[in-house]
Amino acid sequence: MPKFIDRAKIYVKGGDGGNGCVAFRREKFVPRGGPAGGDGGNGGSVILVADSGMHTLLDFKHKRHFKAERGRHGEGNKRTGKSGKDLIIKVPVGTIVKDAETGEIIGDLVRAGEKLVVAKGGKGGKGNAAFATPTRRAPDFAEPGEPGEERWIELELKLIADVGLVGFPNAGKSTLLSKITAAKPEIADYPFTTLRPILGVAKVDDFSFVVADIPGLIEGAHTGKGLGHEFLRHIERTKLLLHLIDLSDPSRNPEEAFEKINTELRLHSPELAEKPQIIVGTKIDALSERSKIEKTKAYFESKGYPFFAISAVTGEGLNKLMRFVAKKVKETKA
Ligand code: GDP
Ligand code: MG
Repeated sequence: MPKFIDRAKIYVKGGDGGNGCVAFRREKFVPRGGPAGGDGGNGGSVILVADSGMHTLLDFKHKRHFKAERGRHGEGNKRTGKSGKDLIIKVPVGTIVKDAETGEIIGDLVRAGEKLVVAKGGKGGKGNAAFATPTRRAPDFAEPGEPGEERWIELELKLIADVGLVGFPNAGKSTLLSKITAAKPEIADYPFTTLRPILGVAKVDDFSFVVADIPGLIEGAHTGKGLGHEFLRHIERTKLLLHLIDLSDPSRNPEEAFEKINTELRLHSPELAEKPQIIVGTKIDALSERSKIEKTKAYFESKGYPFFAISAVTGEGLNKLMRFVAKKVKETKA
């Protein structure tokens, strides 16, 4: 089954171990007392933990470097250096972790709370006190701390989209996704901006669901010509489609746009064409005739489709739409 995959590559480094210390006790009348250098502390490790509150790897697009705290060096009087703190990184449940260089799977975080050490901290070095023996009473050397492990790892998360956005190029899919989710899709004023599906998690009150921006479908997409073709497969498991139609576009009327996209869906996958659709008239801020909204609404409602009019730019209609979508997704999940 096709699934969306969210990926992120991050650098992790365990803390270095602290150096062992070379020191001697100060005693009256003894030029050199016994060795008293303490051990270095261990470096902290970088540990991933699966968290059920996380749904995407988006956070890692912004922060990529993670270093745990180093161990402190040992000190005189046999004082051991303080250990470095572990660095705990939350990842979504279902994250697969690979070594970025070898591709080897390091682990698979399946259950909430599950942990995986991805970069071990270095061990602290022994101080000279640890090397004293009856025959070597005053060792004047200590061990350096070990460096912490470091590597690039790849996080991979399979997600299934609950809601797919379909519509002609420029209908406003990427813009809507960027408004309702934490995703940051590319936005530009030309067709085929979106080269691959982009996911985002939308949140309405406490309910969150995954929305996928699907690249623009064009006529003939089913023949493999359009960029949309390959990606149609990806939305086959969504529970519902938001069908976006640019109401401000003078070159194509809404009824026609709707039929063309649906012809594409049917040609490619009857399964997809059967998904419930919510019709979303977009860009109403740019409408010269507001009456077009009511007319279009009446048309689609008479055909049995819920209809919403929005402007991603002014935000008009977005809350109402999202509440409705959340309710529908909840119903299909129950
Ligand atoms: P996509 O191809 O369906 O992903 O469409 P985009 O989201 O990339 O939008 C295409 C163009 O329409 C961009 O220039 C957007 O800035 C513009 N656009 C999107 N939503 C709105 C809207 O609500 N109002 C206006 N005036 N322009 C919009
Ligand atoms: Mg787009």
